[in-house]
Amino acid sequence: DPRAQGIASTIRVVPNFPKPGIMFQDITTLLLNPRVFKDTIDLFVERYTGKGISIVAGVEARGFIFGPPIALAIGAKFIPLRKPNKLPVHAYTRSGEVISEEYVLEYGADCLEMHVGAVQPGERALVVDDLVATGGTLCAAIALLERAGVEVVECACVIELPELKGRERLKGKPLYILVESH
Ligand code: IMP
Repeated sequence: DPRAQGIASTIRVVPNFPKPGIMFQDITTLLLNPRVFKDTIDLFVERYTGKGISIVAGVEARGFIFGPPIALAIGAKFIPLRKPNKLPVHAYTRSGEVISEEYVLEYGADCLEMHVGAVQPGERALVVDDLVATGGTLCAAIALLERAGVEVVECACVIELPELKGRERLKGKPLYILVESH
């Protein structure tokens, strides 16, 4: 698709951020170009319209940028998958109860949380983030949704770092990406 070229060319690569040796793929420069940002959302919307998806789950933080416009356009609800202790839980009624999934990073561990009451068993979900590297983050997102009885249809990211083979860690779920970075 010719739109992918515009997307690739507006992503800024920042060497040695946030650590020496990392080539950080920065999507904030893509967001500055309304035509390219719209192309990005349109490509996802064209793929997921009419697929019976009722949940778009976005991974903190950049999944919160791309997920909501996709959700609105395909008529799905948006669910934020958040870093620990960000989602409110009512102390007495337990309203807003969360489930947590830990995952390992290159150094240390991290965790994602989801409001269990946000989903019904049997719903069909799309998981959205900006980038897949090792796949650990998406794997935790899939696990959270599946624990709540949700069927994950696919994961969608703007960028894949294919050398890290993250798509092999997605519990057999398909991954759709717009551009590859090497
Ligand atoms: P993974 O869990 O190793 O696949 O890492 C993916 C997660 O780290 C996603 O939530 C990304 O937003 C973030 N991430 C890792 N590398 C980059 C990058 O170069 N640019 C933007 N986000 C990144």
